[in-house]
Amino acid sequence: MRHLEIRQEMITVCNFMVDRGINQGTAGNISVRVEEGFLITPSGVPYPEMVPEDIVTMHIDASHVGLRKPSTEWRFHRDIMEKKPEVGAVIHLHSRYCTSLSMLRREIPAVHYMMAVAGGPTVPCVPYVTWGTQELADLILGALEDRFACLLANHGMVAVGPNLKRAAWLAVEIEALASQYWHALQIGVPYVLPDEEIAHVAERFKSYGQGDDGARRIMPSCC
Ligand code: 13P
Ligand code: ZN
Repeated sequence: MRHLEIRQEMITVCNFMVDRGINQGTAGNISVRVEEGFLITPSGVPYPEMVPEDIVTMHIDASHVGLRKPSTEWRFHRDIMEKKPEVGAVIHLHSRYCTSLSMLRREIPAVHYMMAVAGGPTVPCVPYVTWGTQELADLILGALEDRFACLLANHGMVAVGPNLKRAAWLAVEIEALASQYWHALQIGVPYVLPDEEIAHVAERFKSYGQGDDGARRIMPSCC
């Protein structure tokens, strides 16, 4: 089977998300760019049961090859892959804290300096539209114009990265930010850092760590 290693890595990341409690059942989906288009998780297959043959190969023209139907969210995965060549992987979650905030239709403001990893001073929340629609794909693509993540009202979140490891790392970080914001809101009104500080932190991140990809420190060793 072609791309066996990538398929296995996708399943490992799906199970990692379930183990961390930030996805469950058949919620969410993952895609990874390959030469002929992208690989995408199948629709409605519980993560613990997923095997490499279940992953679907899709082309940018939406034709697909595989035993299974692709995720019902293939439109936003396809549009991101088509319009954002720097993106190598896309992750969608129904994680607890991002989804809770999305139910309030609230963006995440810069309540922690880690907001800089989102690519700007907020994680925006796109309006509610039905899952799997082109309208949702259009809204997500708009929000990701200058960000690496967004919330989807009454639904969940999307994070992107140059590769799967980085996208999964970002998804975990954004869920952590959402959780911290949610907890702070229980006892008061959190202070929001100015946009210039987030831009300054983004610069500092360029030389942070050991010169390797910090994402590896929290991801499964396969990635
Ligand atoms: P799929 O199982 O079709 O990927 O759908 C899950 C989901 O999260 C829809 O938004
Ligand atoms: Zn969803």
